[in-house]
Amino acid sequence: MKNSKGSLLRPDTLPESASRPVVTPLSPSVVYASETPDALDDQYEGRTQGYTYSREGHPNADVVAARIDRMEGVEGGVVTGSGMAAVTAVLMGLLKSGDHVIGGNQLYGRSLRLMKEDMPRLGIATSLADPGDVGAMRAAIRPETRMILVEVVSNPTLRVADIAGIAALAKEHGLLLVVDNTFTTPRGFKPFEHGADIVIHSITKLLSGHSDVMLGYVAARDPALAQRLRVFSVTTGLTASPFDCWLAERGMLTFELRFERAQATAATLADHLAGLPGVARVIYPGRSDHPDHARAQELLGDNACNMVSFELKGGRAAANAFTRAAEGLAFAPTLGDVGTTLSHPASSSHRALTPEERTGLGLSEGFFRVSVGLEEPQALCRIFADAVAAAVA
Ligand SMILES: *Cc1c(COP(=O)(O)O)cnc(C)c1O
Repeated sequence: MKNSKGSLLRPDTLPESASRPVVTPLSPSVVYASETPDALDDQYEGRTQGYTYSREGHPNADVVAARIDRMEGVEGGVVTGSGMAAVTAVLMGLLKSGDHVIGGNQLYGRSLRLMKEDMPRLGIATSLADPGDVGAMRAAIRPETRMILVEVVSNPTLRVADIAGIAALAKEHGLLLVVDNTFTTPRGFKPFEHGADIVIHSITKLLSGHSDVMLGYVAARDPALAQRLRVFSVTTGLTASPFDCWLAERGMLTFELRFERAQATAATLADHLAGLPGVARVIYPGRSDHPDHARAQELLGDNACNMVSFELKGGRAAANAFTRAAEGLAFAPTLGDVGTTLSHPASSSHRALTPEERTGLGLSEGFFRVSVGLEEPQALCRIFADAVAAAVA
């Protein structure tokens, strides 16, 4: 980086170094000084590479974007201030009043809210359909439909979407297929290889992995679409802060290792839970008793993900006793942390649903979703066994 001129108040230039730092430097500067108006022209017109204002881009965001771009097999991804900012960039940046979009009926809670509340307010019609049922998706298509937004594995019921069927449908009707790949991660699933046009991530979750960063990512296969997403994100201020990006890069250095470990432990834990008398049922796409097991194997191979859901016998009272007894496991509504976390949909993510709606999804008062972390697997299984025993005692 050129570093010739100091300023009156910041006269010192960076110290010279013939060697380079091993760690990406944190670049919190909001503005970047140029030599001349001509130099700025060169930069804006793409003859030179450089930064101007950090909402428009900065080195730490570019480092994170390039890392995820490589994993997803795409170029020009944009890092956003949260996963929801990425979802917003796609829905509001690419659609217009009069358009119609179809979403999976078990999307992330805030994505569902955007679809149900905010998009209609802007004149963009929405429908929700089961992504496991291509017939239902097809039935939702209208002449104004422009886009389908799905997640590969649903939260918290861990059903697996029929991505091949939906991709074929999107292609047949000229619709943009948007895949929120947060749960499955680019290690488990590469949406662009399965017909997706746009991929979204909440970096907040497994990619950064330490619950200390809130960031998102969006990328499009078509460079023109990617440019529209970038311009909209910059204009509306959906882009990310350098410090968050810097932390995210650090977390991502161990992403693959963490993911491997967590999903291996998840498989162990799922089998362990299935053998406990206090557990009514276990949901894990990697188990042969999962309703979408074959599809999970086809799409995800051995990467059945680090999420396990299960149903305790005994309703809310047992659920309370379970979280109290689950020593060392955070009862916290997130996923992908280094530590195992428990989520109870009936009191958190799905509390706005009516009891009948929850029953329809199988979300009883005893239903828990576990995001498996990096604890020693046998120790983790013991904690669950003890807490389940305490809950049903
Ligand atoms: C968490 C999550 C989001 C939203 O991400 P934030 O970073 O919390 O804004 C979107 N989609 C899925 C599947 C998520 O799990």
